[in-house]
Amino acid sequence: APDAESKKLLDAMPQSYPDYEVMPDIPGHAKYLLIGGGTASFAAFRAIRASDAKAQVLVVTEEEELPYMRPPLSKELWYSDEPKLVEKLKFKQWNGKERSVYYNPPSFYVEPKELAYQENGGVAVVKGRKVMKLDPQKQVAVLDNGWEIFYDKVLIATGGRPRNIPVFERASQEVKDRVTLFRGIKDFKRLDEVSRNASTIVVVGGGFLGSELTCALGKRSRDSSLKVIQMFPEPGNMGKVLPEYLSQWTTAKVRGEGATVKPETFVKRARFSDGKVILKLNTGEEISTDHVVVAVGLEPNTELAKESGLEVDDTYGGFRVNAELEARSDIWVAGDASSFYDIKLGRRRVEHHDHAVVSGRLAGENMTGARKPYWHQSMFWSDLGPDVGYEAIGIVDSSLPTVAVFAKATEKDTPKAVVEETGESLRSVTETEAEATLPTKEGVRETKVFDLANYPFALLPHPEVMTLVLHSILWCAPLSLSTCTCTSFC
Ligand code: FAD
Ligand code: NAD
Repeated sequence: APDAESKKLLDAMPQSYPDYEVMPDIPGHAKYLLIGGGTASFAAFRAIRASDAKAQVLVVTEEEELPYMRPPLSKELWYSDEPKLVEKLKFKQWNGKERSVYYNPPSFYVEPKELAYQENGGVAVVKGRKVMKLDPQKQVAVLDNGWEIFYDKVLIATGGRPRNIPVFERASQEVKDRVTLFRGIKDFKRLDEVSRNASTIVVVGGGFLGSELTCALGKRSRDSSLKVIQMFPEPGNMGKVLPEYLSQWTTAKVRGEGATVKPETFVKRARFSDGKVILKLNTGEEISTDHVVVAVGLEPNTELAKESGLEVDDTYGGFRVNAELEARSDIWVAGDASSFYDIKLGRRRVEHHDHAVVSGRLAGENMTGARKPYWHQSMFWSDLGPDVGYEAIGIVDSSLPTVAVFAKATEKDTPKAVVEETGESLRSVTETEAEATLPTKEGVRETKVFDLANYPFALLPHPEVMTLVLHSILWCAPLSLSTCTCTSFC
């Protein structure tokens, strides 16, 4: 039976409570309600269960998937030689070890209708349902089918949706049917299928996603007749993040993966003709392609805000929260959707995996009463295949002044080597683990110590070899070494 607290709340529900009878599959009340089934939600339920061992946590996600991680969708899954493994959304890490994109197996979760009866608590996931609105006063969430769930504490971890560009938004349906805005498992499955049959794929966008997917598709093109063309307005790949010389170096690497890269190029018109999408470019050139991947950034998912009376940040986008990640009493926001106050670097919004982990964990802890501020700096990484990768911390923006400090890289400075060393493919975790092994395991990794106080805008590139540790392009408030999460590299 529901615990005493839940029962009290259920009994106290207004008579007008809509059709409790016809919501047999989900609880009408959740002590902890998490909106979104991504990484921030996953980190939050882990933290909640760690602090409140009997916690009953209900996750509502729009996707038809249990919580999963996104980074392998543009990396490892494309480098596998075992299609059967990929079908199950399993992949070989760069070190060859097998892993699933799902954080937990289905057996980890409780059926939503059973959640209230779990004496030792658990986590239940309602899939394929969208939360449309919160009523912060009544503490109730309204779903897309009108169902209502009362909550004690709620986390908004709604991430973001891929942006599109007007030229494709106003194109004909035939063109739209051949455009992928890439974000989740279903997009991966679709592009995987398309790339096995297409003769040309165009990737629009030169940021993280566009560059990673171009390398992944480039790898596939080496074993087939597929042609991959990437285009973006900047002078080089990752031009908004890397300083020009590193961006140029990265562009050469992406070309080396088998793709044609067209910098300073964008699409002016798109039409459909003879089964192909014809793209008219700013250069005057016309390109005929079977499919287009549009990777032009992310729109934080704040649809809930207006109806729920929550503030959206005019500058950074996302729900505005305080240093404890709270938007209003008993409402927290974490991950890509959160515009938060970083006590070291000021207000910002971060769209990376480790931040989703760090902020989701913090929100989860605070939902159980910890009242901790955001202080831990998250890192991010990007791998362009198994040999080229970079890691960064702080505010990383190519418009900031940089000072370069060159250090000779070793064979250990590749994504593959880092994963081999720790057995963990998520680089946010490899860093923590490598750090933990350093004092005891001699020779695990050469440690180069730079006093960051002397290099407030230091950049540590290893262009002649593999790993770029974009360590400390820190703006305004350079961090001290002790607060850095990737000390094993610097
Ligand atoms: P998400 O993971 O987007 O999860 C949000 C969830 O909420 C989604 O399931 C969404 O459907 C659901 N949702 C939205 N609105 C509602 C609603 N109203 N009701 C119910 N559910 C809702 N970062 C790195 O640092 N390194 C990488 O290598 C890296 N690789 C990436 C590769 C890909 C292909 C992508 C797409 C991203 C990558 N990222 C990477 C970024 C990282 O994955 C994101 O920063 C992270 O997923 C953000 O987590 P989140 O929980 O905030 O949001
Ligand atoms: P992004 O912000 O990294 O890059 C956006 C890119 O869009 C720009 O670099 C620019 O080249 C391009 N662009 C903008 N307007 C354009 C136009 N009109 N025509 C052509 N190109 C245009 O965003 P993304 O690469 O789309 O990635 C989507 C999301 O996924 C982001 O949140 C990103 O952080 C995340 N992601 C992160 C990683 C990682 O951290 N390794 C990997 C993949 C995805």
